[in-house]
Order: sequence, then C-alpha cells, then structure tokens
Amino acid sequence: MQDARNFYINGAWVAPSQGRDFAVIDPSTEEACATISLGGQADTDAAVAAAKAAFTKWRLSSKAERVDLMESILDVYMRRSDDIATAISMEMGAPIDMAKVQQSGTGSTHIKAFINALKEFEFETPLRAGAEDTHIIREPIGVCALITPWNWPMNQISLKVMPALATGCTMVLKPSEQSPLSGMLFSEIMDEAGVPAGVYNMLNGDGPGVGSQLSSHADVDMVSFTGSTRAGRAITIAGAETIKRVSLELGGKGANIVFADADPKAVKQGIIRCFNNTGQSCNAPTRMLVERSRYDQAVEEAKSAAESITVNAAASEGRHIGPLVSEMQFDKVQGLIQQGIDEGATLVAGGMGRPEGLNRGFFVRPTVFADCTNEMTVMREEIFGPVLAMMPFDSEEEAIAIANDTDYGLTNYIQTSDDEKARRVARAVRSGMVDMNGKGRGTGAPFGGMKQSGNGREGGKWGLDEFLEVRAIGGWPVE
Ligand code: NAD
Repeated sequence: MQDARNFYINGAWVAPSQGRDFAVIDPSTEEACATISLGGQADTDAAVAAAKAAFTKWRLSSKAERVDLMESILDVYMRRSDDIATAISMEMGAPIDMAKVQQSGTGSTHIKAFINALKEFEFETPLRAGAEDTHIIREPIGVCALITPWNWPMNQISLKVMPALATGCTMVLKPSEQSPLSGMLFSEIMDEAGVPAGVYNMLNGDGPGVGSQLSSHADVDMVSFTGSTRAGRAITIAGAETIKRVSLELGGKGANIVFADADPKAVKQGIIRCFNNTGQSCNAPTRMLVERSRYDQAVEEAKSAAESITVNAAASEGRHIGPLVSEMQFDKVQGLIQQGIDEGATLVAGGMGRPEGLNRGFFVRPTVFADCTNEMTVMREEIFGPVLAMMPFDSEEEAIAIANDTDYGLTNYIQTSDDEKARRVARAVRSGMVDMNGKGRGTGAPFGGMKQSGNGREGGKWGLDEFLEVRAIGGWPVE
C-alpha cells in the first residue's frame, strides 16, 4: 500500500504537522490502496504563508518566463501521463484505457490551451483609441485556494493551476481526499518542471478541515472551487467575511432535447455521453427529452444502448464503464434508483443492485427510466451515476420550458437537423454551454454554468480573466 502522507509546501515534500491518516479506497476492489494525511490548521497556515511570500516576486514575472515554465510543465506531464492515468484509475475507478485518453488527456489539452491563451493575452492596454492616458492593467489577484473534486481530477486541477500560474498568482491546491494520488503526481510534475518555491503548494484534507480553513483564511484572496452545490454554498459563506472572490463550478442536470428530425444515432450517442465516466460528470446529459413522434422508438433505442454497455473493474482494458467512486456514492445512487421506481417512472433498463457477476466494488447497473415527469426526483436531482431519465414533449416551447425548469444551468444538448431551430433553441435554453448534434465546443471555449451550476468560467482567455484584478490608471504618460 502506498504511503502518500506528505504535502508539497514551499518547493519541498514535508511531513504534515497536524495530519490524520485517511485511507484511499480503490472502488473496483473496495480495498485501501494508499494512506494520505488530512491536514490541519497549521498545515493550511504553512501552505498559505509560502504562497503569500512567493507572490511578491511571482506577480512581477514576465509573460515569457511563465510561458517557458508552462512549456516545461507540459513536457514533464506528457512523460508522466500514463502514471497519472494509472493513479486516477485506481483512486476513482475510471477504466484504464479511458483514463489514459480522456482523464489524463484532458490535463495536457488544457496545459497546451493555456499556453496559447497566455501568448495571446494582453495584460496592459489603453482604455480605447483616443483615451491612451487612461491605462488598464490586468493584475494577478494574489494567493488562490484551488479546491477540486474527484470525478475528473486532472481536468479540474489543470483548469485551475494553469491559469493561476499564467496570470502570476500563487496557489494552494487541495485535491479531493477521494482522488489525491493524481494530485500528488501532479505536484511531482510541478517540482520537476522547476516551478519556483512557494508559487505552487499542495495539501490534502477534507472539506470541514483544510477546505474550510482555506475558504476562510485571511491571506487567501480567491477560492476557485469545483464540486457540489452544497459545498459551493458553504465556501461562499466562509469567504464572505474577508470579501474573497469565489469562483464556482458546481453541479448540473443537463437536458438533451431530441427532436424528431435528429440524426438516427442521436439517442445512442446520448446514452454513451450520459454514461461516460460512469455518469459522474457535471455536464452529463441526464434528462433526455424526446419529441413524441419519436419517443417510443427512442425508449427502445435507449434500452438496447444501455444494455449493451458493459461494466467491469477499472484495471481491465477495453471500453466498459467502471465502478462509482465510493460506497457513499453507491448508496446514494441506489437510493435514487429506488426513488425513481417508487415515484412511478418506468424502468426500462438496469435497476437496483450490482450487475451480474460483480459482487464486490461499487458497480451499478446502467439504468434508464422512461415516462418521467419533471416533478420526479430522478429528473430534478443530480444523480452522478449511470442513470438516464426520459420524458416526451409535444412542442419546441414545451421542450425549452422543461429544459429550463431546473435549479441548474450548466450544459444542455440539442439534436435536430433544422439549423434555424438549432439556433433558436440554443438561444432559449438557460445554460452556460450548449452542445449540438454531437459536436463539442472548441479548445479554449469557456466552461461554466448559470444559476446553481455556479458563476465561474474556466478555459481560454475567460479562464485567465478569472484570476485577474482589473485596474484603471488615469494620467498615464503617453509616449
Ligand atoms: P464535494 O463538493 O463534496 O467536494 C469537492 C471538493 O470540495 C473536495 O476537495 C472536498 O474536500 C471539498 N469540500 C467539501 N466540502 C467543503 C467545504 N464545506 N468547504 C471547502 N471545501 C469543501 O463534491 P464531489 O463529491 O467531490 O464532486 C462531485 C460534485 O462536483 C458534483 O456535484 C459535480 O457536479 C460537481 N462538479 C462540477 C463541475 C463543474 O465544472 N461544474 C465539474 C466536476 C464536478
């Protein structure tokens, strides 16, 4: 079993001063695979102090210096990419082949995208032509606490660490205590790439401990958080006392609106997208709304697509889905499936219990509910498991109304071959992102939500803006 008790503070691996042992559980086997420490106030204080001291110099570093450093990080990351995938696969259950391509792959994609965004970014500009004596400076906000979840560990870590570094901020990362091993490998990468001491620090800890200590710390200027809406609310309250900037990427309950004129593969693709990462994605299309004339056929297609998905251990190669991350998550998803049945949704695939042949591990059956109504719990709550809820609609207006009748607003999906309808519905749904006809968004597009899905925007130039203060200086001497 791996001993992973140390923290990375001020450019060195150090033993915690107030650590409590915590077992990392491999969700495919339910066995402990590593021991980490959950830090205490003294550890949080040491990491924040290191970041604060390093800020004085790092805020003045040049753009060229930061680009060079990020390129070194990319080189080391590419070399260690498979190690990252193995750690993610063990700590949170992503199947190894998927972990290599998607989980670890998102890290390098984001590092490259931020190098490009930084190269193009203007930190100083005149207010406008003719007003050159008013000068606008975009300046790093300061010490940032970066708090990340377990479901896409490298995606979230790179979406926060890279822009913080690129803008001249210093930081303390607290990865999820459920997926800390990839975060520790990432810290080794930062060390090997030569990040100056104190610019990047990493602590392990839980929400009530290091998480809330960071969000209320007087020397932390900003908290960038990805996780549940519940924790986002607690962090906002904790940060209010010291007027921190709090950037939130929270949960989602995306609608996938399938019109009768959609591509014949739209339903199958919707299932694959929904169940990827065992349904543990904030932007999963978990509510499938289908135009009535195509609904019965869509339910049949969804049933057969769900039944063709295999479930297996994360270490096995191939295109299956893995277990859920934890026993807590397993119990929560089982409870929600039972609630779907109790509230009268039609169970067309999957259901309660583990898939046949899997008696250990937090494995769940790929599940599809049909004939849902928008009041049902399975249509309202973020389940975070391989569970799809389907519902028919009769008109475009009704589809938009159902899609928008949610506390969340992260990603919606639209399937239609009518271009005009696609544009109309994309404008009408209330979400930070819309994906249409199976096409994703370009690299560097902003990722983030509306309503209770949060207020942050990650990626590209918007991702850099998050970590900057905008200053206006009058009487600027014009050359
Ligand atoms: P979580 O909120 O329980 O934990 C996320 C992180 O916050 C962990 O590091 C945890 O230790 C910490 N934390 C928990 N309570 C805290 C508190 N009170 N103060 C400070 N820190 C605290 O979420 P999770 O279960 O790890 O992740 C799943 C959630 O994340 C889902 O709701 C999912 O939708 C959301 N998510 C959102 C996005 C997005 O970009 N919108 C991306 C991925 C995941």
